[in-house]
Amino acid sequence: MTDPATLYVDGQWLPAESGETREIRCPADGSHVTTVSEAGRGDVEKAITAARRAFDSGTWPRTVARDRARVLRAVADGLRERKEEFARAESFDTGKRLVESRIDMDDIAACFEYFGTTAAHDAGRLVDADDPNVLSRIQYEPVGVCGLISPWNYPLLQAAWKVAPCLAAGNTFVLKPSELTPSTAILLMDLLTECGVPAGAANLVLGAGAVAGAPLSEHPDVDMVSFTGGLVTGRTIAASAAATVKKVALELGGKNANVVFADALFDAAVDNALNAAFVHSGQVCSAGARLIVEESIHDEFVDALVARARDIRLGGPFDDDAETGPLISAAHRDKVTEYVRKGVEEGATLRCGGEWAGGELEQGFYYLPTVLDDVRQGMSVVVDEGFGPVVTVETFTDEDDAVRIANDTRYGLAGAVWTQDAGKAQRVANRMRAGTVWINDFHPYLPQAEWGGFGESGFGRELGPTGLDEYREAKHVYQNIDPGVSGWFTDRTASTRDGEN
Ligand code: NAD
Repeated sequence: MTDPATLYVDGQWLPAESGETREIRCPADGSHVTTVSEAGRGDVEKAITAARRAFDSGTWPRTVARDRARVLRAVADGLRERKEEFARAESFDTGKRLVESRIDMDDIAACFEYFGTTAAHDAGRLVDADDPNVLSRIQYEPVGVCGLISPWNYPLLQAAWKVAPCLAAGNTFVLKPSELTPSTAILLMDLLTECGVPAGAANLVLGAGAVAGAPLSEHPDVDMVSFTGGLVTGRTIAASAAATVKKVALELGGKNANVVFADALFDAAVDNALNAAFVHSGQVCSAGARLIVEESIHDEFVDALVARARDIRLGGPFDDDAETGPLISAAHRDKVTEYVRKGVEEGATLRCGGEWAGGELEQGFYYLPTVLDDVRQGMSVVVDEGFGPVVTVETFTDEDDAVRIANDTRYGLAGAVWTQDAGKAQRVANRMRAGTVWINDFHPYLPQAEWGGFGESGFGRELGPTGLDEYREAKHVYQNIDPGVSGWFTDRTASTRDGEN
């Protein structure tokens, strides 16, 4: 077999220098998907050099914003035209249902469309200098070479949240997607090139984080690193980026509270508690993994939730009856298994799930939707992100108690409140320490609204106007239109000069 050439560097598809490869298998049944190049540090170095050159002397940063925006809108159109091809590739890599991958592709196209629209208007800002002889303006410039590192749960979506604003602002980049899910990033590179992104502006390296990702946070020629992934990796990246004082954006995990008051619409709240916890088998950074329900409705609510959780149909990407899919890998399923075991050992009541799916699903990495009741603050299943189909249940007595429990986490990515009392909904939303709060809903997001975390869920924002600002430097240009001597220092040479004359 010839070496795959799946590293995209300076407009060329290259194999790894070492010839090393990695096989990608579908988590739904273990079947072979593809074989890709496994980059070493030398390959990443080449990609960084290409991105540096493209930034320092290439055309992209000097292309006017309106033209860059046009390219991004063409990418959005291309994604819509090739949606099925991209969605299938995403489903093979992740095991996620094809219907979900199609929704992801629509969202990705919307993201390129959004930044392709907002970035077209980039005139900066005039500043009122309070001085008739001063012209002062703010202009926005790209940060430079960006290292973009993304996870496996929404592979192309998470990459697109970085690639679209990064290009919109005129930067060049090296993208390092998760080693488990490279296929759609490979497709994206060709699409970017077809749509007019010049050679060297968009580069792709594939491989293990510690080898192919780490140089992006360490290398002096990288100006910014934007990372989405786990807390521990985020800490490592921020620490190594500090040595060269890179700009850093971190989108990390969550342990998101779903607060349900007794006056909530019961069926809607149960149904959405299910969505919150079990969509994509809980492999969602904003999953509602902590259900916090008012004491008076606990029994009725949890009984209804458990009944529905038991009923969820698991299956592979192309199983029309499936409602959710497998976990990403055997290793991740082992982690979730241990996480639930420890929770039960610490005193949680296992109401349903807590085991692997059997029968025809044994070939894949399926884990049954799991409800852990009677948990308390401080237990590991309440504190740590599980990133699997596991929801814990706690109770509260009043508004203050609900807010206290919801905020009792190191994370702060997202959360929800369910109540028909509009005032209470707003009060609780205002007090929740999270980057997104849903009222009577769970999970929706908008490309035009900022996304990101409080606390150890990270810093920086993706999407929305701030999502573009992350990739820009604001430069103040100050012009004195009537220059003269400032008079700050006494000019003692003046008399000498006068004497000479
Ligand atoms: P991860 O941290 O293991 O890996 C994420 C990426 O970082 C991968 O590309 C990986 O190869 C790379 N990486 C690993 N070690 C590295 C290193 N030392 N230097 C540079 N890169 C390195 O995370 P994951 O398991 O792929 O994803 C799951 C995590 O992502 C969860 O914690 C989840 O909450 C989080 N996540 C957050 C958001 C958000 O918007 N906040 C969105 C999706 C996922």
